[in-house]
Amino acid sequence: MTKLVLLDRDGVVNVERPHYITDPGDVELVPGAGLAIRRLNAAGRRAVIVTNQSAVGRGLIDMVGLERIHDRLRALLAAEGAQLDGVIVCPDPPWAATVRRKPAPGMLLEAMAAHAAGPAETAMIGDDVKDLEAACAAGCRRILVKTGKGAGFAAHGLVPTLEPVAIVDDLAAAVALLLGSR
Ligand SMILES: [Mg+2]
Repeated sequence: MTKLVLLDRDGVVNVERPHYITDPGDVELVPGAGLAIRRLNAAGRRAVIVTNQSAVGRGLIDMVGLERIHDRLRALLAAEGAQLDGVIVCPDPPWAATVRRKPAPGMLLEAMAAHAAGPAETAMIGDDVKDLEAACAAGCRRILVKTGKGAGFAAHGLVPTLEPVAIVDDLAAAVALLLGSR
């Protein structure tokens, strides 16, 4: 059974923007995302965001500003009766040597250790091939949503080494798949 559900942030929980999200006002939930996380809460599954935020490493925002954005995200989720069990951030820019920034699995392994979940008990839901690559490296189940960048990746096709990947419309459908009902 999947006990830990790892969520990419932008394009999965909140709406992908054409620019880096640096203002709490830019945070808007993907339709159905609040209810989906609430369903995970109710089913006793842990919901943890694992997010690359190179805007920090690039100097566009600091960790205090990022925390404000996450406060806003938590408030929007709380308004739908949903809560996160954690938010794990990698602030590194793409050019940094890092074991945490996806496609590296560092953040996923941290979450799995923190919640005592093995790879067979963990699923990663993402909108980017980087999320799937990180999940592959961590050995956990992979779900690609078509929100955010996901539709483009799904249309382009995935390399066989990432399979099996379940491709679904959005976070609500991913949670329905994991919980085995609608
Ligand atoms: Mg994303």
